[in-house]
Amino acid sequence: MAKQTAQLSNVLRITDVNDFLAPSAACILPLEGGAQPSAKGTTAVVKVGEEPAGSVLTPIVPMETPVSGSAKARVTVSDCLACSGCVTSAETVLLSTASLDEYRSFATQNAASKSERFSIVALSQQSVASIAVHFGLQMTQTARKLATFFRRRHGIDIVIDLSLPRQLSLLEAATEFIQRYRAGKKLTITSACPGWVTYAEKTQKDSVLDCISSIRSPQGILGSMAPHLRPSGDRRPVWVCAVMPCHDKKIEASRPEFVRNQSDGSIQKDIDCVITTGELLDLLTENQFDLISAEQSDLGSKYSSTGSHEFGVNVGSSSGGYAEFVLRVASRELFGIELPRGSIITEKASRSGDLRTATVSNKDGEALTFATAYGFRCLQTILRKVRQGQCKYNYIELMACPGGCTNGGGQISIPGDSKGDLRSWKLQADNHLKNVNSVFHNAPEVLNPLAVSGVRELYNAMVKELTNSDGLKPLRMPIQSRQTNGIGSLSW
Ligand code: SF4
Ligand code: SF4
Repeated sequence: MAKQTAQLSNVLRITDVNDFLAPSAACILPLEGGAQPSAKGTTAVVKVGEEPAGSVLTPIVPMETPVSGSAKARVTVSDCLACSGCVTSAETVLLSTASLDEYRSFATQNAASKSERFSIVALSQQSVASIAVHFGLQMTQTARKLATFFRRRHGIDIVIDLSLPRQLSLLEAATEFIQRYRAGKKLTITSACPGWVTYAEKTQKDSVLDCISSIRSPQGILGSMAPHLRPSGDRRPVWVCAVMPCHDKKIEASRPEFVRNQSDGSIQKDIDCVITTGELLDLLTENQFDLISAEQSDLGSKYSSTGSHEFGVNVGSSSGGYAEFVLRVASRELFGIELPRGSIITEKASRSGDLRTATVSNKDGEALTFATAYGFRCLQTILRKVRQGQCKYNYIELMACPGGCTNGGGQISIPGDSKGDLRSWKLQADNHLKNVNSVFHNAPEVLNPLAVSGVRELYNAMVKELTNSDGLKPLRMPIQSRQTNGIGSLSW
C-alpha cells in the first residue's frame, strides 16, 4: 500500500470534486515567485517549517521537489492560508511538517530510556473511526489496541480520548454564545476548524472576524489542559501528541499563542506534534505492529467521557456536535425550552446535506436558528451573506471539509487510485466514507459534560485559571487579522 504520507485522502479528493478550488486561486507559492502548482496527476511536495515555540518567525524550508526547472517554492506554516487548495482538498501540493519525525524521535528515545517528560497521546474520534474501518474493528477496540501500541511499544504515559477537551470546548462555547447573544451579537461561527479559521484570518475583514467564536478547538484545549492530566505529585513537563483527521491541525498547533510558560522560564509549545490518521497507519506499518491481534489496554486516563471504558463520540455531527450542544443549552437558558433527546440539527437545507438547520422559537415568536455547514462551497455562500449582513443564522458549525471531519484530508484513503474508472472510484469512496460515518455514529455517546465525573471540576479549575490569567488562556484564543507575505485580495 502506498505510504499515507505521500498523498491526501482519496476519499476527500474524489467525493469533493464539486467543492474543489484550484490552489492557484489562493496559494501563496506563485505570489512568492516560487513554483506554480503542479499539473493534475503529479505531486509536488512542499515541506513546511515548524514554528519555534513562542515566536512568529518561521524557518523556511525549501520545497523538496521543485515543480519546474530549478525553482524552489518557499512556504511557511504562518504564510499558508489553509485555503483547502492543498491542505484539505487538492492533489497538487502536499503540505507536510516535521511532526511525524518529532514523534519518531521522541518515541525512540522514550522507549530506550524513559523520558523526563510526562507523555500524552490524544486520539480524535474521527481518526479512530478511520483506523477501525481500515482494520474491520469497532471504535473502543481500536482505541484500546492503539493504546497498547503507544503505551507498550513507545512508553507513552497516557492515551486519551479527545472528547474530554471537546467537552470543555462545548461548555465554553455555550457560555460564549449566550453572552454574545445577550450582548446583541446575533451570529456566532465556530472556530474549531483551522481549515476555515486560518483562511478567514488571512483574507477576511472585521465583518466576518467579529462573528468567529474565540473558543479554542478541542486540540487547542488539549494543549492547555495537558498539565492537569498528570497524576498528582508528578511535576514533569508534559509532551503532547494529537492524532487528527487533517493536516490543517498542524497549522493550528503552530499558532503563536498556543504555548505555555515552563517553571524554569522557558516557553514550550502546547502541542508538540500532530500526526494525521494516515501517518499513524504509516507508524503502525513501519513498527510492524499487528493491530488486529494486539491486546487491548487501558487508556490510562483518569477521566471517562462515557462513564465507562467505552470510547465515545459527541452526538449531533461528525465534527464535534457544537451546533447540537449549544442549541440545547441556549434553548434552555434563553427560552426555557428543554429539547428532546436525539439529534436536532436535521433539516437538510442543501441537496448534498452539507447544510443542515434547526430552529427553536419561543412563545413570543423569537427564534434561534442554528446550522451545520460543511465544505468550501457552503463557506463561500455563508461568508458572502455575512459580509452583506444577510446571514439568517444565529450559530453556524462551519467546517472546511465537505461531510465534516470524518472526511478530513488526513484520513486513511481507500486502496487504489482515482485514475481509472472515475464513477466506480467515486462509488467506492462514497461507500468508504459511509462506513467510517457508520462506525463513528454507532459508537457510544459521550455523556453531558457536566454529568461526567471529573469534567466539571476540570472545567471549573480551567475557568478559574482563565480569570486569573490574561483573560484568554486556557479556553480561548484571539481571532485576528493575520498578515501573509504578499497576499492580495481574494475573491470568493
Ligand atoms: S493550503 Fe497553503 S500551501 Fe496549500 S494551496 Fe493553500 S495557501 Fe498554498
Ligand atoms: S473540517 Fe475537520 S478535518 Fe476538515 S479541515 Fe476542518 S477540522 Fe480538519
